[in-house]
Amino acid sequence: MKTIQDDPRIYELMRRELTRQQTTINLIPSENFVSEAVLDATGSVLTNKYSEGYPHKRYYQGQANVDEVETIAIERAKRLFGAEHVNVQSYSGSPANLAIFHALCTPGDTILGMRLDMGGHLTHGHKVNASAKFFNSVQYSVNRETGLIDMQEVRKLAREHRPTIIIAGCTAYPQIVDFAAFRKVAEEVGAYLLADISHIAGLVAAGVHPSPFPHADVVMTTTHKTLRGPRGAMIMCTKLDRLANVEGLDEKKAAKARNLASKIDRAVFPGMQGGPHENVIAAKAVAFKEALSPEFKEYGAQIVRNAKALATTLQENGIKLVTNGTENHLLLLDLLPFGVGLGRQAAVALENAGIVTNCNTVPYDPSTPFKPSGVRIGTPMVTSKGMKEGEMRLIGTWMAMVIKDMKNTSLQHEIREKVWELCEKFPLYSERKY
Ligand SMILES: *Cc1c(COP(=O)(O)O)cnc(C)c1O
Repeated sequence: MKTIQDDPRIYELMRRELTRQQTTINLIPSENFVSEAVLDATGSVLTNKYSEGYPHKRYYQGQANVDEVETIAIERAKRLFGAEHVNVQSYSGSPANLAIFHALCTPGDTILGMRLDMGGHLTHGHKVNASAKFFNSVQYSVNRETGLIDMQEVRKLAREHRPTIIIAGCTAYPQIVDFAAFRKVAEEVGAYLLADISHIAGLVAAGVHPSPFPHADVVMTTTHKTLRGPRGAMIMCTKLDRLANVEGLDEKKAAKARNLASKIDRAVFPGMQGGPHENVIAAKAVAFKEALSPEFKEYGAQIVRNAKALATTLQENGIKLVTNGTENHLLLLDLLPFGVGLGRQAAVALENAGIVTNCNTVPYDPSTPFKPSGVRIGTPMVTSKGMKEGEMRLIGTWMAMVIKDMKNTSLQHEIREKVWELCEKFPLYSERKY
């Protein structure tokens, strides 16, 4: 095969996917549109290179260029987040979290994370995930009335179960995470604090969400969500291990025990992974450069303004929101007033109208995760397309109409036309074929 056109089935699907992305309103809060530059790096010849190890400490020859690429990615990430140490090799968020547990825990240790159906992530100790199989998982919820993380509950569980790691971070939480409060609890019980900022990393980089530093010992983020880089992850940490137990160790072993950076690096490679994806690492470097620019700060601020505008419009049109609003990029629509377990039906109706979302549990959902009672949306993609508050008011009005009349397919078709027209005003990837 010479080009992708020589694989017509895959080529055609890629072309259709481009059209789908260009002609729908994408509100899935974990997705984004990367730049052409990030796409270029991801699709580059760097994919051909094996580079097990770290810059200037590799196992194979031929590393001159990838060593430099990876070093640049690390330096940029350090600047972007003010991190002391960065590992950019993690394939994605899930293996990155497992690598962190591998670095800091022994099997059977206790980890304390947020429940999946309350807005936490699978890898924070959900029962079907490896994180709960190898570790003793204890989980916190949100407050039933306010929908907010209840720091008193976190503290109570931490004091009772003495976790090795406390995880602060969520996938469906529309409010600010108080990393300082988590640190206090972590200190009280002698636990590490892991901040998983996968969803909000772009907001942190833009300065519109408080930074997890200096509170967290370890910070994990995916690079493909609000941060707007390639699909992947990175781990940041302090150089020194605050909790190192060096009692009775000789000088050399004590130094090793204190070196948190090296524990993380060794847990990623060789502890968890083989060869890093240097094409993706190059794309991460490109995305970090973009995130260091003044335009990125404006993008981050606009994401939040857009989310607030969408929240107000939805509420004015009779849609209930978990926590009654948003302070970040994400909104969780509570559809229980319309009936139990309507999230999926609403998401399908919205997709028929050209508005792409995902169904999601709401806190204390009386239904099941497969048939949840909420819809999760977010503004990163529409913001990357250049949409502002005016467009959010239109989209919010359309969404409320569809949700309140979920079976009305002619209404869905009518709105599909309007969505199409709106998308034409915000062209994206116009030079691309796929
Ligand atoms: C997305 C996400 C992850 C997992 O990332 P993958 O790249 O999908 O494995 C982990 N933690 C949080 C909080 C996330 O939002």
